[in-house]
Amino acid sequence: MDKKEFKEKVADNEYDEVNVLQLFGLQDDVFMGGSVEICHRPCGHTDTKIFSQGIYENELISYIEDYCADCKRKIANTVEFIKQYIEWLYVDVAFLNDDMTHCRIMEGKKYTDYFKSNINLEKFAKANYKLNVIQLMKAVDLYIEDVVGKKEENGYTIKSVKVDMVCNRITHFRSKASISRRELAEKTEIAFKTIENYELGRTKLTSIPILNAMKISDALGIPPEFLV
Ligand SMILES: [Zn+2]
Repeated sequence: MDKKEFKEKVADNEYDEVNVLQLFGLQDDVFMGGSVEICHRPCGHTDTKIFSQGIYENELISYIEDYCADCKRKIANTVEFIKQYIEWLYVDVAFLNDDMTHCRIMEGKKYTDYFKSNINLEKFAKANYKLNVIQLMKAVDLYIEDVVGKKEENGYTIKSVKVDMVCNRITHFRSKASISRRELAEKTEIAFKTIENYELGRTKLTSIPILNAMKISDALGIPPEFLV
């Protein structure tokens, strides 16, 4: 495999910033030496690997594939986080068709399904990979604001996006965790009446004390950032 072929091969993966500086002395499938510069775009980690001794083509490929392995694991976690966050947002989408008359709210469907089918989460995570989850949440929020007015492949234009209320989201994740309101109160040692007030929307999220928000997110198995 020559330099050009090699470049094409690695261009298929996420390391489209692989720069084959030089590879020489190819004998059968062994390169006698050379250097390759790799930049992992999502994190910006750049490295130049110099091969001074013979290296097999497959060793070189696996070196590149393992490059930034830790960072790739983080990105995988980021994808999971985004999925969970979108579920947490639990948004409804209203559509208009071409003549701008028909409006359709995604009935019985969660925004999660919409989001999943319309964007590549993996790609989104790479493009918005942030160590700070708050920044990542903001990127998702921006994306959601951005879809309004955009025409979909199905011919509909997104008229509005309604983010569900926090109180419903607490109920949603509590149901998902299969625990009752009373059990949540017991687990968190928060008064039952207080939990009830949160879920019925009698208390605004901004007024939930941080300690309670932490206890609830912990009991529901969601990141505490969702509530603060
Ligand atoms: Zn990386």
